[in-house]
Amino acid sequence: MPELPEMQALAERLHELLAGARFERVEPLSFSALKTVSPAPELLPGKRLLSTGRRGKFLRLDVGDDLAVLIHLSQGGRIDLQPRSVTSKPKGGVVRFRFDRDPAVLVKEFGTERKAGWWMLGPGDDGPLAKLGPDPFAPEFAELVRTGSDTGRIHALLRDQRTVAGIGRGYSDDILHRAGLSPYRSLASLDEAERERLLHAVHSVLTEALEAERRRVGGLPPKLGDHFTVHGKYGTPCPVCGSDLRRVSYQSHEVTYCPRCQTGGKILADRRLSRLIR
Ligand SMILES: [Zn+2]
Repeated sequence: MPELPEMQALAERLHELLAGARFERVEPLSFSALKTVSPAPELLPGKRLLSTGRRGKFLRLDVGDDLAVLIHLSQGGRIDLQPRSVTSKPKGGVVRFRFDRDPAVLVKEFGTERKAGWWMLGPGDDGPLAKLGPDPFAPEFAELVRTGSDTGRIHALLRDQRTVAGIGRGYSDDILHRAGLSPYRSLASLDEAERERLLHAVHSVLTEALEAERRRVGGLPPKLGDHFTVHGKYGTPCPVCGSDLRRVSYQSHEVTYCPRCQTGGKILADRRLSRLIR
């Protein structure tokens, strides 16, 4: 679930620790996690890590000779920072990068899903970044929120990386709660004031989360999202109005919302609930 705030703060920490270090070894630990065949990762040893940054939910390592490495953690991917001396093959390992100084960077999966991946990019190649929409803080996204006529649900729109890059299931719940908008509303249905509220909520929720993430040290542990307001907090009181938070369940995720703050008291149909009751 790492989203923009987690990945941005991680990129800043790694830059602080490792910019200028030389790659010593790259250890692919999972057969299917490397998504590119060329350029080969064997080109990395000896080259310098120039900088680390973020685009969408991707971590980007810029390397000498115009090479770059992209890392996407998906839902269960995490990062451990380790002493270079550790050589044991870790459980759930995806890839480990060793440099001429500490720390080594281990990408791993903490769950059973195997979805975290990495890419090697040559000069001028944007790989999967080419398909990403604007950053949530870019003027293009503000323009979209103010004028867009998309008729799909806003919750899905915010999570669509081609529309806006960096927001996932967690922060989209918190953003819509802050904006006081139902997850089932569409952009087309919003009036001007609601659009401004949505844009402000996107910016303020992500900014506050980034500030919290910047206090983290080290890699990214299994348990993230301790600063969510409503996401994953179904059944607990809404921090704004005290009503019980409700959820809508999908196969792979759930949407949490407050009926009083977001849907005018209406309870949205939950397929899991209706299946259980029948
Ligand atoms: Zn509420």
